[in-house]
Formats: sequence, C-alpha cells, structure tokens
Amino acid sequence: MATGEFDTELDAYREQVERPLWRLFVAYAPEKAAWLTVGLVTSVLAYGTVLVAPIVLGTTIDAVFTQESAYALPLVPDAWLPIDRTAQFWFSTAVVAAALLGGALLQWVRGVAINYFAHGVMYAIRVDAYEKMQRLDMTFFDNKETGEVMSILNNDTSSLETFFDNALGDSVRIGVIVGGVTTALLYTNRQLALVTLGAVPLLVGFTWWFMRVIEPRYTRHRETIGDLNTRIENGLSGIELVKTTSTEDYENERVRGVSRDVFDAQMDVLKLSYFYRPGMELITGAALLVTFVLGGLWVFSGPPLFFSGTLTTGDFVVFMLLTQRLTGPMAQLSNIVDWYENAKASGKRICGLMDVPVRIEDRTDPVGLDDIEGHIEYDGVTFAYEDGETVLDSVSIDAAPGETVAIVGPTGAGKSTVAKLLLRLYDVSGGAVRIDGHDVRDVRLADLRSSVGYVSQDTFLFDGTVAENIRYGRFDADREAVLAAAEAAEAHEFIRSLPEGYDTRVGERGVKLSGGQRQRVAIARTVLQDPEILLLDEATSAVDTETEYLIQRSLDRLAADRTTLVIAHRLSTVKDADRIVVLDEGRVVERGTHEDLLAADGLYANLWGVQAGEIESLPDEFLVRTAESSANH
Ligand code: ADP
Repeated sequence: MATGEFDTELDAYREQVERPLWRLFVAYAPEKAAWLTVGLVTSVLAYGTVLVAPIVLGTTIDAVFTQESAYALPLVPDAWLPIDRTAQFWFSTAVVAAALLGGALLQWVRGVAINYFAHGVMYAIRVDAYEKMQRLDMTFFDNKETGEVMSILNNDTSSLETFFDNALGDSVRIGVIVGGVTTALLYTNRQLALVTLGAVPLLVGFTWWFMRVIEPRYTRHRETIGDLNTRIENGLSGIELVKTTSTEDYENERVRGVSRDVFDAQMDVLKLSYFYRPGMELITGAALLVTFVLGGLWVFSGPPLFFSGTLTTGDFVVFMLLTQRLTGPMAQLSNIVDWYENAKASGKRICGLMDVPVRIEDRTDPVGLDDIEGHIEYDGVTFAYEDGETVLDSVSIDAAPGETVAIVGPTGAGKSTVAKLLLRLYDVSGGAVRIDGHDVRDVRLADLRSSVGYVSQDTFLFDGTVAENIRYGRFDADREAVLAAAEAAEAHEFIRSLPEGYDTRVGERGVKLSGGQRQRVAIARTVLQDPEILLLDEATSAVDTETEYLIQRSLDRLAADRTTLVIAHRLSTVKDADRIVVLDEGRVVERGTHEDLLAADGLYANLWGVQAGEIESLPDEFLVRTAESSANH
C-alpha cells in the first residue's frame, strides 16, 4: 500500500481503523468473559452497599427515635423485621455492619476480577502485537518504525489496561451510585429529589466544560514530553559524538530547554486540573446546602415554597447523607473521558499494527528443503525498494552446488540487495530467485533461512554471553559443539583470553568486543548452523591484517564444500572464486574468472588496478558513475 500523505505505513493503517476499542473488546474479552462478569456483578453489588447505611439510618431515625413512621427497610420482607424498638435499633446496626463488611469483601473480589480481566486482555494483546511485528517484512522496518512499535507494545497496551480496569470500574460506580441515589431520593421524597438531583446535570456540564478547556493543554504537554524523549534518546545514542566533540554543555542546554517546556506545560495542566475537583465539590456542596435549607424548613415548619406533603426527619437525614455520596464518583467523570480518549488512540495504533499486511510469509503448502544440493539461480531479477527506484535490473547469476561466486562492484551497485533477495528479506519485483530449482517464494521460509548461512556486514550480537551468542538459533548445541565452532571460526583463542572466557557477557549489541571479534563470533554461529549455502556480505569495516587473515581463513574453510555467494568489497579476497559477477548500477556488466576479467580490461580490471595500487584512480568513465552511486548510498 502506498503510504501517500502519511509518514509511515503504520500511520496509514492506523487512520483507517474504526471503533478500535469495540474491535479489541470483541476480539479479546470473550476469553476473559468469566472474570469480566464476576467483576461487573461484584462492582454493582459493592457500590450498591454504599447506599445501604444512609437509607437504613434514615428509616431507623423515623421509626425508632422520632416515631414518624413505621419500621420498614427497602427490599427486606416486613415479616423479618423485629417489633420491639430496641431490637429494631440493633437490627439496623447489624444491617449497616453487614453492608460495610460485605462491601469491603465485594470490593476486593471486584478489584481482583476486573484486574484479571484487564491485565489478561493486555497480556494477550501485547503477545499478539509482538508476534505480528515479528512477521512483518523488512520494508516495514526500513521506515524506522521501531520506536513506534516499542511504544505500541509498552504504552498503548498499558493505556488500554487502564481503560479496561479503572474506566470500566468507575463507570459502573457512577452508574450504580447515581442510579441508586436517584432512585432512593425519588422514592423518599419526589419533590425534594428533583431539587437535589439538579446537581447531576450541573456536574456533567461542568465536566464537559472542563474537558474542553484542558484538552489543548494536555495535547501541548504530551508534545513536550515527546520532544524531551527524542532529545534524550538522541543524546544517549550519540553519546560518543557528544564526548568526542565536547558538546556536553550544548546538549545540556538543549535538554534544559525542552525540560523547561515540559515543566511549563505541566504546570498549565495542573493549575487548571486542581480547579476541577473543588469545582465539583462546590456544586455538590451547593446542592447539599439548598437541600438542607429547604428540607430543614420543611421538617420544622411544613412544606416551603411550592412543596406539599410531609418530610420526616429520617427522610431529611437520607437526603443529607445521600447527596454527599455523589461527589466522589462524579469527580471521576473527567478521568473516565480522558482514559477513554487515550485508550481510543492507543486502540487505533494497536489495530493499525495488526492491520499492516504480512507480505512475506509461507504460501499455503510450501515446499520443504530437506535434501538440498545448493544450486542457486537468479533468473532475470528486477527489484526496487519501496521508494520505487530500480535497484536491480534483469540480474542473472548462477552458482552450481559447491561453487563460490563473488559479486563485486562499486558502492551502491546493488550487491547487498542481491544477498537479501536470496534470504527472501524482500520479494523480487520481476524474475525469480531459485534454490535447487524451487522459487524461494514457494519454499518454506524457516527451511530457506536455515539452509542459508548469512554472515552480514554489521554483525549484531545479543546482550548475553559469548557462548549464548554462538548458540543463537541452535539452542540445543552442547559445549563441545560450541567450542569446535569457535575454533573453526578462529575465535577460540581470543574468547579464551576474555575475563570469563565463553561466559563473558558481550554487552548491548556486543559493544564489549571489537569489530573483528564480533565477526568471528558471528562466523562461529554460522559454523554451528552448518548451512548448505553460505552467503557472505563481506565487512567493509577495516580490521587489522592479521584479523583479516584469520577471518578469511575461517571463511575459506567454511566455504570449501558449500555453495557460496560472496559480496565482496575488497577484491583481494575473491580472486580465487570460481566465478566473479561485476555489478554496476544494478546491472551485470561483466562476468568470468579473475583472469578473464583482467584480460577484458573493463570495470573489474580498473577496480583491481586501483585496489592493488597499480593505477592511481579509476578512469573518468568509471569514476563519475561510482561517485554518483556512492552519493546515493
Ligand atoms: P551495495 O551493497 O552494492 O553497496 P546496496 O544493495 O546496499 O548496494 O544498495 C543498492 C541501492 O539500493 C542503493 O542505491 C541504496 O541506496 C538502495 N538501498 C539499499 N537498501 C535500501 C533500503 N532498505 N531501502 C531503500 N533503498 C535501499
């Protein structure tokens, strides 16, 4: 899909997502339906118990103390109630105590159940999103979406969890308490209830206004946090540059600047947000006061204003106690809206990731590669990366089983791209790449990638021990096999001299090893993999002559009885290859043995001349092209 006006593919898919929360809920909630149900039912009951005390106390005052009405409790059959006033007093006390205890217990069950649900959903989403991410092809990652994916896996799943836990819980709380208070007040005294409940629309309106004015400040705050993170991340990854150029003060100043913005934006938010809760309390307080005045007048001198009928002391107490119960839950209203908005944005990003198509995966009945001979064939391969510029144009290369074929050419000619197509990191745009006659697109990906041993230009090591890095991908290999592989890779000597030998930790990305050492660990990994086909993207980074010799010797040994494709940047290493293919601007311009090519006196002979020091530089006709493609690179 063309990303068009969007920065990245992820953005483009995200924008198309509709009703993300509902979609995620339908996909993930059913598995955890039991926890959700228990959570919701106990929520309703738990918040319901909050209403018990005010109602029972009001009734008891009327029946036991002022004797304005008979003793009756809502939902309790009259037959169960005691007749004697003292007994009634203690019965009410027992009911309130039971409600308090039951409420506490229900709250606990509610919390556990809702969290099992919310965290369970988050766990499932995170695992699925990670698995999905692993299946995406390199084009996706070329666009540097790693930061975005990290944030989806961390922040977005967390904000969904907050939503499913807190927002769900608090919505139920508001529903039950506002619903319960409304019912109880209407049941107790309809006329006064209408006055008191006037607070509810006011509370909702105030929240709505508050959300509108605070939203731009929140947005600004989030932006400044984003800027700060980017700044810090850049400073950290460029720490070596910062130190070597002594720009610490400059960097400190930059971080101080954005930190100040964060502070200002945060204070703008806080100044306003501390206004919300008191505002809500003011509204309920006003409602309480009005109810107190009207109810109080009513109790001791009959119905005021346009009211009629009676209001007992107990009813009056019920009103006083219940009205106060409204503030707590209603003050969560703005949080709920906020959680909801955040969760919606997060849900969109998660669903967006789920929607990015997996372009490179096994077809329905893929061909297995059990017994492979190792015949590699590029047949008229044409290829362009996502930006559309043709990088390879009708490239044909043939390597018979056991042969070593070298690919050479100026920087940017397309050599590494040739390598990536064999591993099917990308799919060809035209033509085909075949192994033993099977199009790589038909071959089971896992088989393909385990039959091809790839030693790349930049060796990546995981933070772990040397032995773990050698064993990566062949996790069942025993110690002897690891040692033998290291020996074959000419790595045993240096590994033994490390502080803890094979158990030395290599640091993040292997920073504690030198470039040449990392490469030899990677070669040992490939020796252990024992692939039928070898793909060497020769490192451009300079290593000393001795290391180069060791590396070369181990690679020669490794290549001896396997089909090998060498992407060579230094020609000295390939003159013994069975065949050399010279690429220039994505096209095969020459092919043959080293001697053939020298005799032909074309690009290869000239590159050779420069590298061997026989001529000082490439003749102009070659130079111009090489410079251009280097600039592109
Ligand atoms: P070589 O290995 O011969 O130096 P490459 O195969 O790395 O050449 O690159 C060939 C061309 O493809 C270059 O112009 C380069 O800029 C471009 N290219 C390489 N990798 C990518 C990528 N991931 N996305 C887009 N263009 C790329």
